[in-house]
Amino acid sequence: MVGALTAVYLDPQLAEYGFGEDHPFNNFRYGAFAEAFQHLLLDKRVTIMKGCLATDAEITQFHTQEYLNFIKKKSAEGSGFLDYGDTPVVPGIFEASAYVVGTVLDAVDQMMEGTIKRAFVPIAGLHHSHTAAASGFCVFNDIAIAIHTLRQKYNVEKIAYVDIDVHHGDGVYYAFENDGDLVFADIHQSGIFPGTGHPYEQGKGQAKGKKLNIPLPAGAGDEDFFAVWPHVEKLLEQEKPEFIILQCGADSLADDPLAYLQYSEKPHAYATRRLCELANKYAQGRLLALGGGGYNLQNIARAWTAVVRSLIDMPFDK
Ligand SMILES: [Zn+2]
Repeated sequence: MVGALTAVYLDPQLAEYGFGEDHPFNNFRYGAFAEAFQHLLLDKRVTIMKGCLATDAEITQFHTQEYLNFIKKKSAEGSGFLDYGDTPVVPGIFEASAYVVGTVLDAVDQMMEGTIKRAFVPIAGLHHSHTAAASGFCVFNDIAIAIHTLRQKYNVEKIAYVDIDVHHGDGVYYAFENDGDLVFADIHQSGIFPGTGHPYEQGKGQAKGKKLNIPLPAGAGDEDFFAVWPHVEKLLEQEKPEFIILQCGADSLADDPLAYLQYSEKPHAYATRRLCELANKYAQGRLLALGGGGYNLQNIARAWTAVVRSLIDMPFDK
């Protein structure tokens, strides 16, 4: 639908970001979403967009030049690991990673130029990547790069990042731990990778109190999520962000092979609806949703289409 204010990046090139068919982050994840999205005819109700490659200058807004060079070299070599064993090298992983970043930055541009208000980018939301290190299937941290872009290119300072992936968004948390203008809220499973995100991690210095880490025990489900969610809204109401990013990893749904939360897709739909309302109130409607993790293909289809449906259904009024 041309002219819809919600966009979905439907672009098979995003499927290139993956680590082969035997890896949890395989190359079928994009297709699992795209097929369900089209089957439900959601593609008729949004603006369909294509991604693009990020430039080196965009990537080095967050990553070091040395790390960028390392990724390019390993990508050309085509073997080995980018970290201590979770994130293997596949040929072309540099280009695939740069494409994810470029696609997210295109969404930021379109949203800031006012062409669209809300966007969903599957495969993006690679929240474990650090300035100079790959980690947990994440090569470039598209979220941190988007935050730097919003600030440097568009003078948007106060940004909220909400993460409902089953894993703690450590790459984002530690990058902005001292940054009082990056409002951070993360609901995740305790005691699994990466082992961070304790409740006492509330930001440092002037950022103290601007970060919320809420671990839930293995086995926690929808009711547990809904019980803690109001803390997220309270923080955002207090901080009034000018732009909201949601990382909506599907690995917090029941039957993910790598984790043990027991959500249905309802928390994803609900979080999206509530963040749409907060975005209407404080952020001129701007909500950028990024797919994140999820290693059960049916859960990817369920969670991500639930997010998109909420983006479509929520009104833009204040
Ligand atoms: Zn995850």
